[in-house]
Amino acid sequence: MGFKIDCPNCGSRSYHEFWFGGELRPYDAAAPIEVDYRNVWLRENSDGPEVERWFHFAGCRRWLTLERDTRNNEIRRLVETSNPPTQGTADSDNSPPSL
Ligand SMILES: [Zn+2]
Repeated sequence: MGFKIDCPNCGSRSYHEFWFGGELRPYDAAAPIEVDYRNVWLRENSDGPEVERWFHFAGCRRWLTLERDTRNNEIRRLVETSNPPTQGTADSDNSPPSL
C-alpha cells in the first residue's frame, strides 16, 4: 500500500523517496550491549501508531521523525526534522550511518 509523506522541506512525496530508519527508540550510552543491540536491530513491528525515523534520500536529505499508524499508513504528525545542512562543515553530510 503506497502512501505519501509530507516533507516540511520538499512537500508531499511518495514514501519511495525515503529510507525507513526504524522505530524511534531511546538511546542510552551506558546501556548494556544486549539492550543496545535490541534497540538498534530488533523491531516491535507494532500494530497501530508508532514514532519512526525516515530519511529523505531523494529530496532534501534530511531525517524526519513521524508518527505513523502502521495499520493504514496514515501519517498522524511530524514530530521533528533534522536541521538544514550547513555548507562547508562536517555537519553538511547528513547521510545515514553505514551499516
Ligand atoms: Zn525532503
